[in-house]
Amino acid sequence: MNESKITLRNVEMRFGDVVALDSTDLEVVEGQTTVLIGPSGCGKSTILRLIIGLLTPTSGVIEFEGKPVSQDNILALRRRMGYVIQDGGLFPHLTAAQNVTLMAKHLQTVQEEELQEKLDDLCELTRFPKDGLTRYAVELSGGQRQRVSLMRALTLDPDVLLLDEPLGALDPMVRASLQTELKEIFNRLGKTVILVTHDMAEAGYIGDSIVLMRAGRIAQQGTLDDLRERPADEFVSEFITAQRSLVQL
Ligand code: ADP
Ligand code: MG
Repeated sequence: MNESKITLRNVEMRFGDVVALDSTDLEVVEGQTTVLIGPSGCGKSTILRLIIGLLTPTSGVIEFEGKPVSQDNILALRRRMGYVIQDGGLFPHLTAAQNVTLMAKHLQTVQEEELQEKLDDLCELTRFPKDGLTRYAVELSGGQRQRVSLMRALTLDPDVLLLDEPLGALDPMVRASLQTELKEIFNRLGKTVILVTHDMAEAGYIGDSIVLMRAGRIAQQGTLDDLRERPADEFVSEFITAQRSLVQL
């Protein structure tokens, strides 16, 4: 129990003079939902890109199930991770169904018949209307696009789900209902989830563990109660207070 699925050890990411991520240690516990939160530019998306291997750390080590991630194993590991990028990243000239099945078809690991069943299951799981599958991404609502992105991330039945502000662009009503649904889906699937948000109420609602970041560093990791009642520093309490004025936590 409480095994670390993904571990960052002294991971640093620089782009020229920009330190996107200062030397960072992070443990992502298997089966839990870990939420990364913090001001814009603090390094949240960088952490996801490092984990999925789109970026190679300037220094430090990333471990997946205790083994270092390297050029040799990253492609195999990537197939065990589903990634929902900011704004969904659907191909506009493909239908919803084509977007969802693109990777599985490319890899040819799933039979056509099985893929159809999978598609049906995923529609049910994400409550996406089946008659929407033949629509192009541009013909879908924001909420439906995010459901399709989530279906796509789940097609290969990954162990790990990485979601970068999946609800960021949605209006408040749609956002609230999708928060509830996402939490249910994560609980049902029992996968290891890392979700990025800038909304503390969302982080507290969905996350088992919250990682509050500031300027390329982790300011504090814990539960919402830890952060509220035992803030590590001034920044943590100010961040919580600023968000509490918007939403009663
Ligand atoms: P967040 O997702 O928390 O808003 P990011 O992880 O995207 O922040 O970015 C962290 C910092 O790294 C920012 O200062 C950003 O401008 C910088 N950064 C991210 N990606 C690149 C890149 N490819 N080239 C240069 N700077 C980058
Ligand atoms: Mg980001």
